[in-house]
Amino acid sequence: MSKAVKFFIPKFRDLINREDSKCQTYYHPRPYRNTSVRFRPSPISNFEERAKIVEKCGLNVFAFPADQVSGCDLLSDSGSTCMTMEQWSKLLLGDESYGSNEGYFELLDQISDTFGDSFKQKDFRNPNIFIFHQGRAAENAFFTCIKQELLEPEGKQKRDNLFSKDLNPVLKSRIEYLCSQQKNAFFIIPSNGHFDTTEANIIYNNIVPLNIPCKEHINKIENYPFRGNINIEELESLLLLERERIPLVYITITNNIGGGQPASFDNIKKAREITMKYNIPLFFDACRFAENVWFIQKFENNFKNKDIPKIVKEIFKSVDGFTVSFKKDGLVNMGGGLILNNNSILLKKYPKLQERLINYQIQTEGHTTYGGLAGRDLKGLAEGLRTVVRQDYLDHRVNQVRRLGEKFIEYGIPIIKPAGGHAIYLEVDRFFEGVDNPDEEFRGIALLNLLLIAGHRVSELGIYAFGKHVNGIEFPPNPRANSLRLAIPRLVYEDQDLLSVVEAIKILHEYKDKIPGVEITYGRELPLRLFKSTFKFKD
Ligand SMILES: *Cc1c(COP(=O)(O)O)cnc(C)c1O
Repeated sequence: MSKAVKFFIPKFRDLINREDSKCQTYYHPRPYRNTSVRFRPSPISNFEERAKIVEKCGLNVFAFPADQVSGCDLLSDSGSTCMTMEQWSKLLLGDESYGSNEGYFELLDQISDTFGDSFKQKDFRNPNIFIFHQGRAAENAFFTCIKQELLEPEGKQKRDNLFSKDLNPVLKSRIEYLCSQQKNAFFIIPSNGHFDTTEANIIYNNIVPLNIPCKEHINKIENYPFRGNINIEELESLLLLERERIPLVYITITNNIGGGQPASFDNIKKAREITMKYNIPLFFDACRFAENVWFIQKFENNFKNKDIPKIVKEIFKSVDGFTVSFKKDGLVNMGGGLILNNNSILLKKYPKLQERLINYQIQTEGHTTYGGLAGRDLKGLAEGLRTVVRQDYLDHRVNQVRRLGEKFIEYGIPIIKPAGGHAIYLEVDRFFEGVDNPDEEFRGIALLNLLLIAGHRVSELGIYAFGKHVNGIEFPPNPRANSLRLAIPRLVYEDQDLLSVVEAIKILHEYKDKIPGVEITYGRELPLRLFKSTFKFKD
């Protein structure tokens, strides 16, 4: 090697190893390059045109046509992924035979390659891998079949609804309140944070979804990297005192409703030890498993030098199974699953569960070997599962979100800290600090519609989405949550695009006293009102 080459290589290495004080790898090029792009039909300067459409849509962002979003469309990171060339090539090789198509076997192999041997399907008569068209369909099947098991005549018919006197009084009153909202509900499924569809599917089966997030989450500890943890003390006391009510325990990785924040390996392991002790199954809602593992690798001491695929297998050893939307870390546009560990406590407890699931899946989705997806989709998904655990992909993905968070902080715009793996949550209450902002004005809705006129689409996850209007009275969510979510689609945007969103929000923040309230013109009292309602800017 020439002297000059020897001299410069370490310099180049310093350049890429340089740790930005906030986000490592700030100066890395993206680990991929574009091979196909889409031009927007509508230029960013079409403000008046967008203002007209916003009004026509009644300020309902879901109704706004996507091709008129000239900036960033951050409505959701779900299914909005840009697929790789390898995935597209797999789609062309898709096999559309009705039963046991090629992609099915490829996916079965990939699932055990990704999540570990205990998820290997051994016998098609007793499948442990159930494919669905998306996550919520898997949840629906799962909780419906669990409910059927719980109602079996020989299933312990203890229906005394009193809670143990020894239960922590605050937790007890929270559970009592939740149970009182559901007639004759007895069973409870605790979680660090149930996603809204998971919650809805649990409630639909008259089981009570209970969130027991960790203290750091409740107390908003800003530099705690694992705010997605489940509260181990509360879990332990629930299992000690109320385990007859608890068919299983859930951990959502990463915790979407809690800000996309991760659970630590240590927390998962402790949850496993406790659930094992009481013979209660533990499940993941595994939509963002790879992003969660990235945080474990970065912030948990024993994992710094371990490969992502190895850590994935290690954490999945702790669970009896998982539900998953592959529209997130499957890196595909559609797909979901319910995947059971072969050694699952659940299967021992409920030996008829698989049979029920097969029936339910065939009745609602399709034969077990395609489950609501085309054969080509199964191949694309298998490829996506290989890509999502790449170190270079995950470094870029999560750091991009974190860099975006840093920009908000630099500009003094309040967000939930630390930033999670897939989205930035802008804190609406703090955003409007200093201006009169009563809840019934719903300024968050006005803010996001003004941002839409600027060219960027985000969603409200706050007092409108989670609040309720009953008998003329508005109830904000309890515990209070009031955010706008900027969900970052995978492999779609460059930093420059995302930073332009912060610039637009900065203008809105500077002139926040000019942001009006909104008048609700339709749907205030409807369930799932965020998706249906229309509004008008107040003058
Ligand atoms: C998206 C999501 C789901 C539901 O999946 P869909 O594919 O949208 O039906 C469940 N849980 C979490 C944490 C999610 O983010």
